[in-house]
Amino acid sequence: MSGPRISLGRAHAIASSMIADAEYAGIGLDTIVAVGGLRRFAPVVDEVALLGVAREADHASVQTAFARLPMVRRSRPARRSSMTVETTHGPVTLHLSVPGQLGAALVWHTGSSAHVDHLRVRAGSMGLQFTAATVRGVTSPELACESEHALYAMLGLPFIAPELRNGSGEIEAAERGHLPALVSERDIRGDLHTHSNWSDGRHAVADMVGAAVDLGYEYVAITDHSERAPASRTLQARDVSKQRQEIDALRHAMPHINILHGVEVDIMSDGSLDFDDDLLEQFDIVLASLHDGRGDARARLTERYLRAIRHPLVNVITHPTNRVPGRFDGYPLDLDRLFAAAAETGTAMEVDGAPGHLDMDGTVARRAAAAGVTIVIDSDCHRVERLGIQMEFGVGTARRGWIGREQVLNTGGADEIRAFVERKRAPR
Ligand SMILES: [Zn+2]
Ligand SMILES: [Zn+2]
Repeated sequence: MSGPRISLGRAHAIASSMIADAEYAGIGLDTIVAVGGLRRFAPVVDEVALLGVAREADHASVQTAFARLPMVRRSRPARRSSMTVETTHGPVTLHLSVPGQLGAALVWHTGSSAHVDHLRVRAGSMGLQFTAATVRGVTSPELACESEHALYAMLGLPFIAPELRNGSGEIEAAERGHLPALVSERDIRGDLHTHSNWSDGRHAVADMVGAAVDLGYEYVAITDHSERAPASRTLQARDVSKQRQEIDALRHAMPHINILHGVEVDIMSDGSLDFDDDLLEQFDIVLASLHDGRGDARARLTERYLRAIRHPLVNVITHPTNRVPGRFDGYPLDLDRLFAAAAETGTAMEVDGAPGHLDMDGTVARRAAAAGVTIVIDSDCHRVERLGIQMEFGVGTARRGWIGREQVLNTGGADEIRAFVERKRAPR
C-alpha cells in the first residue's frame, strides 16, 4: 500500500471533527457521512473519506466552502464530484452525490473495491449500470436509490452490512440467505476489560463505573494490570485488597450496576501467571495477556498461551495476537491449537476495541467462533471518554468477523458472566 496509513481511531477522530465543522459552518449539504474503510471499521485506512449530498448546481459552492473549514490547510484541485483537502491531521476527501442517489453513492464509496466490483458485474449481468457516473446521478437513472437497502434489492440481494463488504464471501452468502445476524452495540450489556488509576488508566474506578452507567451497561469489570506487566503503572499484589475495598464501597454507592473486580494478569515467560492462585481466586474475573512476546518463536508463544488457557482461573485471553494495526502483524501462533484449547476449557477470547489492538481482527475472530470459542468484546479502555467509542470499534471489528450475538459472552447478563467464570473454576 502506498501513502500514509491512518489508524481507525485517528480516522474516526478526523472524520468526526470535519463533519462537525461542516455542519456547524452550514456548507450547503443535505447529508454528510463517513464512508470508505472507516465505515467498514477497517483497522487502518488509506484516506479519510466523506460523502455529502447536494444538488448538482450547488457542488462547486459546497467545494469552495469545504476548502475553507478551519482544519483545512490547503486544498488540492477539485475534481467534478470529489475533492481532497490537506487538514492539520492529514488528507480528507469529500465525495459529492445528488438527492435521490444517496444509497448508490453510499455503497459505491463505502467499498471495499472487491465488494463493489462484484456488485458492478452483477448489475451488468442484469442489464443495469452501476458505475461512477450512475452514482453521481448524471447518466442512467435506473439505479437511482435513496437507500442502500433499495440498491441491494434492485440487485436481488438483501442488505449487506458495511463491515461485511470485504469480498470475503458476503455476496454468495447473501444470495443463499446465509448472512449472519450480526452482533450490534445494542446487544452489549457490559464491558469486561477496563483500566483505572490503580494501574495505567487515567481515571478513578468510580469515574470508570460512572461512564459505564452512562452507557446503560448492567455490569463493568475493572481489570488493572498485574504487578510485572510492561505498563507505565501496575497494580501491586499488596494493593489488591485495598482496591477490593474501594470497589465494595462503590457497590453500595452505585447499586444499579454490577461492578466486577477483575484483573489483566500477565502471562510470564514460562506460561505461569504474574499473580499466584490464592490472589487470583479473589477476583471476580481473570483476563490473561501476553504483552512481552515479540521475537519469541511460534512454538514457545503457543505453549505460553496454552498453559494460561488451561489454568482454571483464567477466563479470557485478551488481544490474543497482540498486533498493532499498520505496524506489527501480531505474534506467530498456532491459532488452531489455541482455539481448540479455549473451546475445550471454557476460556473466552477477546475482540479488543482499543484502536492500537483491534485484536482479534475480523478474520481471526471468525475462525475462533467457528472453532466454538466464546467471544468477548471489550473496550480495554483507559479513560472515561473513550469507553463508548472503543466498544463501538470492538463491535465493528467483531462484525467484520461475521460474529453473531449468541457467540458473544457479554451480550448476556451479569449472572451469565459469573456462571461462565464458575464453570471453569469448579473442579471437574
Ligand atoms: Zn493488554
Ligand atoms: Zn488492558
